[in-house]
Amino acid sequence: MPIKDPKKRAKYQKEYHEKWYSQNRGDRVAQVAKRKRGIREWMRTLKESLSCERCGLSGQHNAWALEFHHRDPQDKVSLVSTMVSSGMAKKRIEAEIAKCEVICSNCHRKEHYEEHRQALEDGEKSIWMKAGEAGAQNMAFNKDNLTREKKRRRRRRKQRLQQINGGTVSGPKQTVHNDIDSLLYKIENGATLDKNEADRLRRLIAYSQNLEFQMEGETEQFMSEEE
Ligand SMILES: [Zn+2]
Ligand SMILES: [Zn+2]
Repeated sequence: MPIKDPKKRAKYQKEYHEKWYSQNRGDRVAQVAKRKRGIREWMRTLKESLSCERCGLSGQHNAWALEFHHRDPQDKVSLVSTMVSSGMAKKRIEAEIAKCEVICSNCHRKEHYEEHRQALEDGEKSIWMKAGEAGAQNMAFNKDNLTREKKRRRRRRKQRLQQINGGTVSGPKQTVHNDIDSLLYKIENGATLDKNEADRLRRLIAYSQNLEFQMEGETEQFMSEEE
């Protein structure tokens, strides 16, 4: 495995590092933030072209005042505002909007207040209470999902580690990277790696490439889901 030719070795190292840093996490975070900003702007422009279906208030100068009221609460997948702030796909947001009435915050409050009064008169639970219960259920559901997702990731990480025979490779990306660097540094300084070290370097590189590959795959999936 050790690359004897110093030129080839330098070239390999350079390419390796370029690939590593060009795909760093900061770029992805910035990309996601940029997309969210775009969706928020798109929503504001959309609201500027709408007006309250009850009182006619125009969104042109009051985009902030317009809200989306679900005609049938049973249809509600999520709040449009939540979908926007979490940067969901426009297509999915539009599908949610299609189930809604465009309404200003005043008319919206009035609408729900009347619902609330009506429910009390009919001897039912207030809609505020129902919403609270649904919210609590939702939170429990999300929490459960989150734990499951965490466990799944932990399991996958463990599997990845087990794929590397000997089990000597562990730790996060940066540690692996540092380990590779220190071995490459040894070669650079004229030392010859013994068989164990050479094996280890080979495994580390395979592992890091696998990591990179998997991370890229995940990002691509995430982006196409959200675009
Ligand atoms: Zn509503
Ligand atoms: Zn209104």
